[in-house]
Amino acid sequence: MSTRPSARGAGALCAALVFVSVLPAQGSTTLRPLAQDRAKGAAAVTEAMCRDWLGTLASPEYGGRGTGQPGYELAAVYVRDHFQKLGLKPAFPEGSYWQALPWNVTEPKAEGTHLRLTHGGKAVVDLGLAELAGTATQEIEAKGDVVLVVVRDLEGNDLAGADLSDKIVLVHAPAGLVPKGQAGRRGNAALFRLQSALQQARARLTVFCDDELFAATGKVQGASVPGGGGANRAMRGRDRRPVSLTVKTSVLEKALAAAGKTLENVAAHAGLVDLAGLQADVAVKVETRQGPAYNVAAILPGSDPARRDEYVVMGSHLDHLGQRGATLFPGADDDASGSTGLMAVAAMWARNPVKPARSLLFVAFTGEEMGLLGSNHFVENPPIPLGSIVAELQMDMIGRDEEGQDESADANRNTLHLVGTERLSRSLHELCLARNEQHFGFALEYDEEDVFSRSDHANFARKGIPIAFFFTGFHRDYHQQSDTPDKIHYAKLLKVATYVYDLSFELAQAKGRPLVDPDLWEKSRKGLGRNVPEKPVAPLAPAKGG
Ligand SMILES: [Zn+2]
Repeated sequence: MSTRPSARGAGALCAALVFVSVLPAQGSTTLRPLAQDRAKGAAAVTEAMCRDWLGTLASPEYGGRGTGQPGYELAAVYVRDHFQKLGLKPAFPEGSYWQALPWNVTEPKAEGTHLRLTHGGKAVVDLGLAELAGTATQEIEAKGDVVLVVVRDLEGNDLAGADLSDKIVLVHAPAGLVPKGQAGRRGNAALFRLQSALQQARARLTVFCDDELFAATGKVQGASVPGGGGANRAMRGRDRRPVSLTVKTSVLEKALAAAGKTLENVAAHAGLVDLAGLQADVAVKVETRQGPAYNVAAILPGSDPARRDEYVVMGSHLDHLGQRGATLFPGADDDASGSTGLMAVAAMWARNPVKPARSLLFVAFTGEEMGLLGSNHFVENPPIPLGSIVAELQMDMIGRDEEGQDESADANRNTLHLVGTERLSRSLHELCLARNEQHFGFALEYDEEDVFSRSDHANFARKGIPIAFFFTGFHRDYHQQSDTPDKIHYAKLLKVATYVYDLSFELAQAKGRPLVDPDLWEKSRKGLGRNVPEKPVAPLAPAKGG
């Protein structure tokens, strides 16, 4: 495993920034205790507190903190209350700690929702919301002729060439619609392909008739999607999941009986079965409201009139994958660990007698797992001028020891990835190395630059704000149900948080602020994504030889 600490030009840059410390030789140093001016704060947060905060955020009650889901609201309240208790100021207008990301939560309503089948004008079935399952990401209104499709091949090949235009399609698979071994799983790839094949055949509405699928889905699911302009084109305001309903097989039996058929005699078919005279009237009413999708942020105002309009920003993402059908993703490391780190740094500052000269902003982003949506919304609608942000320090997955094909967790007990620090500002990079060298002694790694665009700091970097991303590496529980609090390395999490606290202390108290190196900006800006300004919002360093 290689570490590439680059100590080039360290001394000069630090002096320029009036930071303390001269870099000792790598690996031989005895770590020094933190300076008096910040030691009290650092000592105010314990591993037990981190265990408590993370345990709460990653608890089943918080439902994996899915953006737009009830569990996210609990987490946003929890972090807000933490900031409030520390006496930190609300960061957003009207005294709010929350910045709402436009988020549409669509929920089906019982009133006005029904599925009625008639034959020759006579009622066959009349179902309400409770007897329906499926996905309704928007209102459903469908009336018309009913046909049956008997599916033998879930890939939808039985439908080849079928024209189902404007038909309401009952779908039955004698072998079942939930592939073996996938019982309880709501969505499965095969079903998705079958739904797409039915949509291609221009089915007006699909109604699956299957007890196992009905049990797996359990109710009509609404949608929880970004609203407004924040989402990428594919996601904007509409969920791309095909609209479909699921009913119990007994409903199909009643429909077939009305058309003079039975399950046994249609089971021999494959493809289209005509159910002459059978009509359907289907309506699913939904209500759409703003869902719980908030960036949660607080400010510790600076004390120096000359510098308090400049901000050191510390970030994490509060959301995770949430609840997906019956599956809950706790996200203990991703990113309850970073949000715990954020809560820890905020507490360290609040408990430290020496106050910052510059102001500090602590922000837990929403919508990260969906494409960095919360931090995108933040930098496009910033509560403070972007140019006033001297750096963004991002903590995402700081609670584990990296493990991979040829790496064991035991070999990485003290490893930390430093990502993106060399992209914009050499002085910020050098500061990170110097503070680590003196006080923390992490085995810093730089071989994860490919994750540069995969967490919220990326939205700050693309505006030209120096960033540092702290990440302890991937492991087998990444984005799994098994990413649980019992696997967290709490001593390491607290050490990473203390490192970030120390760096923020240096950035808050220093005379100068990290400048963006013109050559680095030119080199980086092409790979930073959309809406990258010509010039960085942070001040540029004088060009070399200029
Ligand atoms: Zn993450």
